[in-house]
Amino acid sequence: MWNKIYVEEHLIHNPRVQSILEKLKQVPILITSYDEIWGKSKKPYLHKRDSLNLFIAQKKGQLLKLAPDAYGQAGEPHYYFIHAFNCIYECQYCYLQGYFNTPDIVLFVNHEEILEEMQKSLESYPNQKVWYHAGEFSDSLALTHLTGELELYHDFCKKNPRATIELRTKSVNIKELIKLSPLKNFIISFSLSPFSMGKVIDLKTPSSLSRLKAMVELKKNGYQIAAHFDPIIYQDQFDEHYKTLLQTMKDMELTDNLNYLSLGVVRFTKDVYREVERNYPDSPIHSTPMIKSFDNKVRYTHPMRMWMMNKVKDAAINAGVSSELIYLCMEEND
Ligand code: SF4
Repeated sequence: MWNKIYVEEHLIHNPRVQSILEKLKQVPILITSYDEIWGKSKKPYLHKRDSLNLFIAQKKGQLLKLAPDAYGQAGEPHYYFIHAFNCIYECQYCYLQGYFNTPDIVLFVNHEEILEEMQKSLESYPNQKVWYHAGEFSDSLALTHLTGELELYHDFCKKNPRATIELRTKSVNIKELIKLSPLKNFIISFSLSPFSMGKVIDLKTPSSLSRLKAMVELKKNGYQIAAHFDPIIYQDQFDEHYKTLLQTMKDMELTDNLNYLSLGVVRFTKDVYREVERNYPDSPIHSTPMIKSFDNKVRYTHPMRMWMMNKVKDAAINAGVSSELIYLCMEEND
């Protein structure tokens, strides 16, 4: 799977790194620091298909970031923590393709330092519930059989009932989760596309149906689950496609068991939009015009976004999702 594996030399005796390397069975190249090589020259995004490199490194600088407004459910602070850069999947709309200079993956192994930052931030809000999201710069489950850090984050939630961690994923790699006990404040959320659309735009990911099956399995094991319909992309009868997805979720007894359902209509920064046009010129994403919006992002018009979200929201309510559990992601008034 990996073209080359680079490891920061000061980490070579770290037991977590040793465990990753044992599983990979590939001789690593030792380097001083990942950022001396990673992203130093432009590597086209689609090169991830046949020459993906892996870096194992220590995250320096900011380990935790305050999430922007409208990132999660309102009224509570939301942070995201950074445990990896880039992803093994290839969703056509992925913002990582215009965000980093390279698709090469970095796995950060200093989870204890990330957790220390999380603890500090939690103490700065003594009376509030605080959210921590994984999956902003990478899928949060796809490589966990390799990286083995889930238990640490699970322990953090066990010790800190005021903290809630959300692992956001398109993966069905739930093996490591099943080994742990379910907790109320440890939520696994799945991003889902309608079945027909998912096949075209969620490249290299498990199908939406497989993700639903993973949700059922987690629910059976007592896990808290949630869903994201984001990005919602316009196509003829898009609402019918969401109704089909929601009906399947209902049949699988998922719609009345969600902690929340977030809805977000497709949006891009200018740079990412340019990359999507270059990498996926035939994508259905380009079949509907977009405009520059209130925050300089490229989106559908405000009335169209609201119309689309309301259609999907109504379909979700009809399928049994409680309206108080549905929130609109990254959407503000023009
Ligand atoms: S799963 Fe998420 S991070 Fe990975 S390619 Fe898809 S959108 Fe990007």
